[in-house]
Amino acid sequence: MSEKITFAPISYTGWGSLEHLEEEVKRFNAKKILLVTDPFLEELGLTNNIVVPLEKAGMEVDIYTEVVPEPPLAIGEKVVAYTREHQFDLVIGLGGGSALDLTKIAGVLATHAGKVEDYLNLTGTKEIQSKGIPTILVPTTSGTGSEITNISVLSLETTKDVIAHDYLLADVAIVDPALTISLPPKITAATGVDALTHAVEAYISKFASPVSDALALQAIRLISNSIRIAVKNGTNKQARSDMSYGSYLAGLAFFNAGVAGVHALAYPIGGQFHIAHGDSNAVLLPYVMGYIRQSCEKRMKDIYEAMGFSATNLSQTEASYKCVIELKRLVEDVNIPSTLKGFNITEDALEGLTNDAIEQKRILARSPLPLLKEDIYAIYKSAFDGV
Ligand code: NAD
Repeated sequence: MSEKITFAPISYTGWGSLEHLEEEVKRFNAKKILLVTDPFLEELGLTNNIVVPLEKAGMEVDIYTEVVPEPPLAIGEKVVAYTREHQFDLVIGLGGGSALDLTKIAGVLATHAGKVEDYLNLTGTKEIQSKGIPTILVPTTSGTGSEITNISVLSLETTKDVIAHDYLLADVAIVDPALTISLPPKITAATGVDALTHAVEAYISKFASPVSDALALQAIRLISNSIRIAVKNGTNKQARSDMSYGSYLAGLAFFNAGVAGVHALAYPIGGQFHIAHGDSNAVLLPYVMGYIRQSCEKRMKDIYEAMGFSATNLSQTEASYKCVIELKRLVEDVNIPSTLKGFNITEDALEGLTNDAIEQKRILARSPLPLLKEDIYAIYKSAFDGV
């Protein structure tokens, strides 16, 4: 069997890698630049890391700060309209997945006609035709991997949908852990478990390959080893660096192998209850993996070992079972509620969540255990009860 492996053209990683920004911007001969970011990052002064050197080099930088977490479609329409109106040479995204996803849409759809809505995966009617304006993506969370994936996620009324095309791949990704030092513990935890979920789901995906396996296992090692430290002591450089590499590798892994059941069930939770993407993945991760465990015991054993545990004297069944327990422990250790009740979701919501999750057919198709409506309800129910 042959596999297609896709990577974004250029990445810089590691502490201080943002120093490469100016040379990359110059490579595109860009003079008029749009910086898409969220208002909090401007307040924190993180935008100065971009604006100051570029303006010093004679470039014009327009800062667009209308990004909100888990951006709804309307925010996507707005940023695209703004980008079309002002004719930029280059778009830079600085922030978490929310800012980066909007940057990708802005860059590509600036040179397309129609609404953002027309290009949505589940309900859209138009195809992306061309690359659009060059983009440089600079993550400030260690979570989504958006800087190296070809999708943008938008929140709809009761669920989420994506725009996906290889033209959404950034021209340059700059993954500098120094930019994540200011992340508070709660966001470090949610985004970190999001990255772990990407790696775990890529590893058990029906579309996993030797390349995505290598990326996913290394991501699991780095994240499992460092997430508790990063949450407890955000200034620990080694932990921040590991989380940054971990989320980057996990992003590359899931971009190539896909995510599966956890994400399919998490999207409706994010859409209906406005719970952060990382939190909705985290609360479901142990329950989805517990439910599908028997379909991928060998792979769950590998995950257990990558998390730093010895499985030498354990059968695959025992190790896979312990893996689920350790995933739940990790979520609890970083202070994320480990039941749906903990997020104030009531039992009468489970039916509606199930109806929306079953629509995520493309994502569900990657699950090693086919998940039908009754399975999805059963998983939500166990996440609700905490068993
Ligand atoms: P986010 O971008 O929504 O940011 C969360 C919060 O963290 C914001 O309030 C932001 O201001 C703050 N923040 C970000 N960086 C900070 C820093 N360095 N210091 C202090 N505060 C900081 O969070 P996210 O989890 O990175 O992104 C979530 C979005 O990404 C969701 O919409 C999700 O669906 C999407 N997503 C996209 C992909 C993809 O491949 N494109 C993958 C997974 C998730």
